[in-house]
Amino acid sequence: MPSGGNAAKSGRRKLVKGGWIVAFDGTEHRILKDGVILIEGGDIRHVGRSYDGPVDETIDASRDLVIPGLINTHVHLGSQAGDRMVLDAGRRDLFRSGFLNHWPSKGIRGPNLFAFEDLEASLRYSFASLVKFGSTTIVEMGGEFGDDPAGLARMAAALGVRLYTTPGFASASHYYDQGGRHHRHWDEAAGEAALDKAIEFAERHDDSEDGLVRAILVPYEFWTCTPELMKRAKRAADRLRIPMTFHVAESVIEFHDTVLQRGRTPIGTLADWGLLDRNVVLGHCLYTGGHSQTAFPFRDDLALIADSGASVAHCPAVFSRRGVALESFERYRDAGINLGLGTDSYPQDMLDELKYAAVVCKVADRNHEAGKARDVFNAATLGGAKALGRDDLGRLAPGARADLVIVDFDRLRIGPFLDPIKALVHCGNGELVKQVLVNGRTVVKDGRIEGWDEQALVEKIRQSTDRAWSRFAEFHMTAEPIDAAYPNAFRPWAE
Ligand SMILES: [Zn+2]
Repeated sequence: MPSGGNAAKSGRRKLVKGGWIVAFDGTEHRILKDGVILIEGGDIRHVGRSYDGPVDETIDASRDLVIPGLINTHVHLGSQAGDRMVLDAGRRDLFRSGFLNHWPSKGIRGPNLFAFEDLEASLRYSFASLVKFGSTTIVEMGGEFGDDPAGLARMAAALGVRLYTTPGFASASHYYDQGGRHHRHWDEAAGEAALDKAIEFAERHDDSEDGLVRAILVPYEFWTCTPELMKRAKRAADRLRIPMTFHVAESVIEFHDTVLQRGRTPIGTLADWGLLDRNVVLGHCLYTGGHSQTAFPFRDDLALIADSGASVAHCPAVFSRRGVALESFERYRDAGINLGLGTDSYPQDMLDELKYAAVVCKVADRNHEAGKARDVFNAATLGGAKALGRDDLGRLAPGARADLVIVDFDRLRIGPFLDPIKALVHCGNGELVKQVLVNGRTVVKDGRIEGWDEQALVEKIRQSTDRAWSRFAEFHMTAEPIDAAYPNAFRPWAE
């Protein structure tokens, strides 16, 4: 896969003076105390104890932690109303799936929740959250672009963040019938046509916008794509030398339906189709053989993934809210699987996600030595970079892109610490992010997004989601009002 970008360009020289720098020594991250990073244009030129040459600008982070820009391997930029709505509730017959509550349309090609959201407000709000909370590379899961997929790429470039995208495609869509039963509606020709468009987009936009925008092919879900569509997408990804990602092993229903229909697990089926490979990122990949909720104790899946070199995009926050855990981050790592982290839907805070990844793993394994701060941090940096085939991201080292996050460590929330990485994972969150640079350009400064009005974004996204929720009955499969299906924590004051 291509890497590089603007290595040949020269530009302004910036020197970052860091209190604690997570510096890459060519093999692994190390902690460089009181060190410097020299940036020229979009590249890192030097990382070390000092630098005495001329510079145009000095960034004082001498009381802060400087980390590589975080690589967010699984994001839905356009969806805001769904996952926020289904908290603490949802249909019991979906076996704790969250998205199946709000994603399917009412009838075939009927309206779904997203039809009532303000797309631009959703996208801008997500982008703002992502970059403000430390994500510098974002993998969008293919959806919700309206009629202008290139608009998303332009938005990312204007903000100055790295984006992997192409319009998603599938052979089937989820819907509810009049009795409220879930089905998939198959339209294979539409899936093939959408793949054609995705390939065309990838050919035109890969490595555009000064290298910030890259292509990734996104068949939405293993469960809604034919083997023919998946195989053709894989051939296209190989030819274009780009990665591919999709949702798989995401729900118990998908797992059991696949075993019933095909006699194989979702991962086993992908292996049969030749879909497990180095350029493939498996979104979620929760229900593999041996998961305690599958009643399927045969543990072949992890070795299949590890041997293929495919990666897993792990999104612990959104699933732990449904009582669902990967089993486990540690076990997947031990099997030799490359893991990245993603925020999926909200709150799009990668530093929060590090904490969820560590804690959920410890609880899932009943093991305090599992889910180490080192390993979840590596997943959010080096693991994500490897998943995307990039050896120039996720690390602070000469020759890497100048993507870095300065975390304010001079704060009550951090307090005393023996180890800045353990403090970051277990005390930190995205609100501590002080400054973000992507490709050498400052995108967040003093905790604010350069050139964006955050308060206006909050106003707009609230109007958008309020409108979607007010039209609940128009898309939902039952005639229930929203406050019956999804009651708030406390009842309204009666007067
Ligand atoms: Zn997803």
